[in-house]
Amino acid sequence: MVDNWLNIRQFFKIGSCLSCRQPLTLFEDFCPACTDSLPYLQSHCPGCGKSGVNRPGHVNEDLLCGRCQQKPRPFSSVHALFHYQQPIATYIQQMKYRRRLDLARTLGLLMAKHIKSSSKDVDLIIPIPLHRSRLRSRGYNQALELARPIAKNLALPLNYKSLVRTRKTKSQTKLSIDARRKNIRDAFAVIDNKVVGKKIALVDDVFTTGLTAEAATQTLRKAGATSVELWILARAGTG
Ligand SMILES: [Zn+2]
Ligand SMILES: [Zn+2]
Repeated sequence: MVDNWLNIRQFFKIGSCLSCRQPLTLFEDFCPACTDSLPYLQSHCPGCGKSGVNRPGHVNEDLLCGRCQQKPRPFSSVHALFHYQQPIATYIQQMKYRRRLDLARTLGLLMAKHIKSSSKDVDLIIPIPLHRSRLRSRGYNQALELARPIAKNLALPLNYKSLVRTRKTKSQTKLSIDARRKNIRDAFAVIDNKVVGKKIALVDDVFTTGLTAEAATQTLRKAGATSVELWILARAGTG
């Protein structure tokens, strides 16, 4: 019954704002006030998504942060939509652990809108994969669920098979940065030749240290990808 209702809601797009529950007209998921109050990143480092690089009134899209100037990351650019702050942090938790795929769809569409105006040169969209045992227990990959509406909206091919996670990595949150790096090294593999010569956009929900995305990017580059951009929903951390 609940599933049926969700399907009906999806089909006719009726219901209430996903944030404040205010009744909505057709074809909206958030009301205009809630859409405007989301914690958008105003300007950020194009190398890592870190906010606050540009001085107010002096927006320079090409200005890398100090960390990226010293030690460039492997991505060709990073496009991040939100700060990892409320209510986005809660939405991401619900999307990840409570099967809120309606949120993934809505947030993916907001990402597509942002990317449409900022990134142009991509052949293929690839979500960061989960290890198959984690995929089995969760039932879905939230990065893939974000990537689906983006690919559809931007009319780009979506590939969620070529890049795989070969090692089940421990939860990163309690590890030191060196232990994290070791934990994630060689965690990915490319299993076919579909990335050769392709400009790829890698999609993920949250960027904290960026080590996971860096490992996936290095694997894609070694497998022959020409370039890898990173498209992330929210930027956490200050590193
Ligand atoms: Zn609202
Ligand atoms: Zn940076």
